[in-house]
Amino acid sequence: MPLQDTLGRPLKNLRLSVTDRCNLRCLYCMPEEHYTWLPREDILSFREIGDLVDVFCDLGVDKVRITGGEPLVRRDLPVLIADLARKPRIRDLALTTNGVLLADAAVELKRAGLGRVTVSLDTLRPERFLALCRQDELPRVLLGIEALARAGFARTRIDSVLLQGTNDDEILDLLDFGQQAGAEVRFIEYMDVGGATRWSPDAVLARAEVLRRIEQARGPATPLEAEPGEESAPARRFRLADGTVFGVIASTTTPFCATCDRSRLTADGTWYLCLYARQGIDLKTPLRQNASRAELARAISAGWEARADHGAEERLELRERAPPHARPALEGDPRLEMHTRGG
Ligand code: SAM
Ligand code: SF4
Repeated sequence: MPLQDTLGRPLKNLRLSVTDRCNLRCLYCMPEEHYTWLPREDILSFREIGDLVDVFCDLGVDKVRITGGEPLVRRDLPVLIADLARKPRIRDLALTTNGVLLADAAVELKRAGLGRVTVSLDTLRPERFLALCRQDELPRVLLGIEALARAGFARTRIDSVLLQGTNDDEILDLLDFGQQAGAEVRFIEYMDVGGATRWSPDAVLARAEVLRRIEQARGPATPLEAEPGEESAPARRFRLADGTVFGVIASTTTPFCATCDRSRLTADGTWYLCLYARQGIDLKTPLRQNASRAELARAISAGWEARADHGAEERLELRERAPPHARPALEGDPRLEMHTRGG
C-alpha cells in the first residue's frame, strides 16, 4: 500500500533545493536588498542528499526536481545529477533554472543524465528583464535555452510568471518564442508565497484572463487531457489551432491542493509538506546523528501520514489577501522564503 497523507494523496514528487543563493533578484521572489542565508555548515553535501533521496524513493518518490535558489550556482551540480540519475526508481529527473548559467552547463548536465529542464523566463525585453530580475542577463538566458536543444534535451519548458501591468503584454510574444525554441510555455499566476513581499491581488493575472487574451488573438484553446503519469501536474494544458501547446498554473485563483503529491527539501535538509507551511521537519539532524535508513523512513512516513496541508486553498479563503510574512519573520526564518523552498 503506497504511503498516503490524511487526504489520500501519495508521496511522489520531491523538489530538492540545492542552494538558497541566487544570481538574480526577481521582484516577485527576492524583492529585498538583504537576506538571511542558511549557514554554510548546514547545507547538505551531495552524499547526504543522495542518502535522503534513497529513503524518499523507498517510500514512493519517483519524480525529483532540482531547484533553488538558482541550482546552477551550486558547485559541481552535475556530480549530484549523475548520482541521482543512477537511481532507477527516479523515473523523472528534472531541473528548474533561471538559465543564466545554462549555456555552459547544458552538455555536462545532459551527459550527467538529467532528463529535462524548465527555464524560468518572464520577459523577452532586455530593459524589462533588468527591471524585473535586476541583473542584465537576458542574453545569457536566451543562449542557455538555445544550448538545451543542441545538447539533446527535449520536452523543455519555459515558465513565465505574469504580473499585471509589468509583463502581461508579452503573453503572445512568449508563446511565439516558446514555439520557435521548441519549448512549451507555462504561464504562472503570481503567488502570495514566502518572500513575495510586494505581492498584491491587483498584480495577479488570473488564468481566465490569460486564456481570454490568448483566445482573442489566436482562436480557441482546447483543453488537453493530462499525459499518463502527469495527472497531478499543476499546469492545465491547452492546444491552439496552429498546434501550439501551452500551460497555465493557476495556484493563486484555482489551487490544486486536492491532488498535490509534492514536498520540498531545503538545502539544509528541512522537509516541507506544503509551499505555504510555516514549519518543516528537520531531517538533517537525524541524518547527521547517523540515524539508520529505517529510522529516517519512519520520520518521513509519520510526517506524510499526518499531512493535512492545503495551503493554497486556505489562502484563497482569506477575505483580505496580502503577503503572508512581514520582513522580520522572513529575516528570522529564511526557510519561509520561496527561494529557499525551491518554488
Ligand atoms: N532560480 C530558479 C528559477 O528561477 O527557475 C529556481 C528557483 S525559483 C524559486 C522556482 C520557480 O518559482 C521559478 O519559476 C519562479 O518563477 C517561481 N516563483 C518565484 N516566486 C514566485 C511567485 N511569487 N509567484 C509565482 N512563481 C514564483
Ligand atoms: Fe528569480 Fe529563481 Fe532567483 Fe527567485 S530563485 S530570484 S525566481 S531566479
